[in-house]
Amino acid sequence: MIDQQKILVVDDESINRNTLSKLLEDSYEILLAKNGVQALKRLADNPSIDLILLDVMMPEMDGYEVLRQIKQSDQNTNIPVIFITSKNSPEDEEKGLKLGAIDYINKPFHPIIVKLRLENHLRSVRQRKLLEVMVGYDGLTEIANRRKFDEALYKEWLQSRRAGSLLSLAMIDVDFFKKFNDNHGHAEGDIALKVTAKSLAGTIQRPADLVARYGGEEFVLLLPDTDAIGATLIAERACAAIESQKIIHGFSEASDFVTVSIGGVTLTATDAPPESIIKIADKYLYRAKEEGRNRVIWGGSEIIM
Ligand SMILES: [Mg+2]
Repeated sequence: MIDQQKILVVDDESINRNTLSKLLEDSYEILLAKNGVQALKRLADNPSIDLILLDVMMPEMDGYEVLRQIKQSDQNTNIPVIFITSKNSPEDEEKGLKLGAIDYINKPFHPIIVKLRLENHLRSVRQRKLLEVMVGYDGLTEIANRRKFDEALYKEWLQSRRAGSLLSLAMIDVDFFKKFNDNHGHAEGDIALKVTAKSLAGTIQRPADLVARYGGEEFVLLLPDTDAIGATLIAERACAAIESQKIIHGFSEASDFVTVSIGGVTLTATDAPPESIIKIADKYLYRAKEEGRNRVIWGGSEIIM
């Protein structure tokens, strides 16, 4: 966690962008946007932005509207937004704070004060992110994160090596998710991911089973001590459970609703190291996609690369 924190500075006037960037670039990584559209694009391209400094008066889309749109995606709800503006009336400030800004800085601003306030907010951001990683949970879907999965996979792989027991792993991908996001919007995309995570979590029962968000629209299901028949059954149930949520997907070639493709493998630790188990499951996932998506393809270790 020693990475530089990222600040997005949004202001239509280049002199403000330059001043703020000079003030902060020694301590932080600075991204710039000169209007609302650009700001939203930067944010979509850099989900790890830690804080946004947002001008209010900008042509076309003003800062209030930008904030409204930012807050539409659950992925962004934790990113603190600070208004920095010459609209200095208490009513303006009230409006900004009510919309969800965490702070309000008046222009002309005092560089030292800006810096100190940002330091305070960014300290909280760092602590929250650290906590998320430490507890092993994904902030959006509230299921395990990739780090927790990596640890669990290694632990179960060791157990399989000791006991010679079977280990099943499924890789899961939301079908045509990019098209979903592009057409239905990121806010709907977040809901689809949350519902998918919840449906997946609902299909496992034993304490050692784990559902995790692997990244983006990819999930994993780790099923220790489970044979291929049992694991396939669980995967089939997960696949059906997600489609039965009936989240309209107007741009999927697989169904009218949000669906997933699942590729899985059952093997023992002697067949492959943990990284290869993921790769093998991924090959079956690829096959599930090739064969039309919204389905489960399960195999054994015979696909060794
Ligand atoms: Mg302005």
